[in-house]
Amino acid sequence: MFEIVALVCLVSAPETCREQLVPGLETLTLAECEQRLSKVARQDISAAVPRATVQQTECRPVGSGLDLREIAPGIHVHIGAIEDPDSSNRGDVANIGVIVGDTSIAVVDTGGSRAVGEDLYRAIRELSQLPISHVILTHIHPDHVLGASVFADTGAKVVAHPGFNRAFRDRQESYETGFGQLIGQSGFLGTRPVLASEAPGTIDLGGRILEMTSWPTSHSTTDLTVLDRRTATLFAGDLVFDRHVPALDGSLTGWLSVLDQLADLGALRIVPGHGGPILSVEAALAPMRQYLETLAQDARLALEKGERIGAAVNHIGGSEANNWDLFDSYNTRNATTAFTELEWE
Ligand SMILES: [Zn+2]
Repeated sequence: MFEIVALVCLVSAPETCREQLVPGLETLTLAECEQRLSKVARQDISAAVPRATVQQTECRPVGSGLDLREIAPGIHVHIGAIEDPDSSNRGDVANIGVIVGDTSIAVVDTGGSRAVGEDLYRAIRELSQLPISHVILTHIHPDHVLGASVFADTGAKVVAHPGFNRAFRDRQESYETGFGQLIGQSGFLGTRPVLASEAPGTIDLGGRILEMTSWPTSHSTTDLTVLDRRTATLFAGDLVFDRHVPALDGSLTGWLSVLDQLADLGALRIVPGHGGPILSVEAALAPMRQYLETLAQDARLALEKGERIGAAVNHIGGSEANNWDLFDSYNTRNATTAFTELEWE
């Protein structure tokens, strides 16, 4: 198989470049690829790459894709690194799902940059030539959504929680600059956000029905889960963290109540947003409850004692430090959110 790649360079820093995949134009032979390439206009590619120009295009053998692991028949998962985003992982720090039906494929989350989305696309093409009909985004956080443009470019429908577009627009600028700085200009080059349509209740991939549920504010304001009816596999997005400490960007009490409801969806296995990649329902939910309940208890006690927030956030949740990775990166922020929320109870 051959693919078309374009060397794209930043207008503001022409020495900063990245080889970008032009998806959807793969061919079996080099000759066919060259023929397709002759019909692709550079300005069409440029138009899709923010703040960059195309220096060169060429055909080459298809590059290697992300690792995918089949965790149930037709369900493949890529395990994101349990790391903060940086130039070496390119934002590949969240789990990604690929669900193959009889007539089309759905992708659940897309990684944190265009580069990760391209390698995901390559991995899916190795797996199956069926059309990728849907991208389902589990919430607005950049490590889950910034690879989506690759699939939008090839005609996939991008769907998410009804509050997704508004919440994403509010944060788009800080996500793009903040996340871009962590990954670095060249690794982040070509990344562009994609807005979503409201997810329908179900999606049919041909003999395979996916059920989408949009949740009230919990991990974030835009959490959505995907249940594959055929295998009773639940993609929980960041409603479930494993190994990676949970990050609270919504409501602590809301999240605890949603966890109870997740237990009633009839799932046999859960794919968390980070870690796993497959957990029993109990193994997924028990550590989550323990962490969030500890935050709540500690915050309520600090409030009762009249502690100031600055002092309280240094110990709220502290007894959970040894149970999670990246604890120091997130716990203080979680404690602050918990304290502020429970202050108004
Ligand atoms: Zn998240």
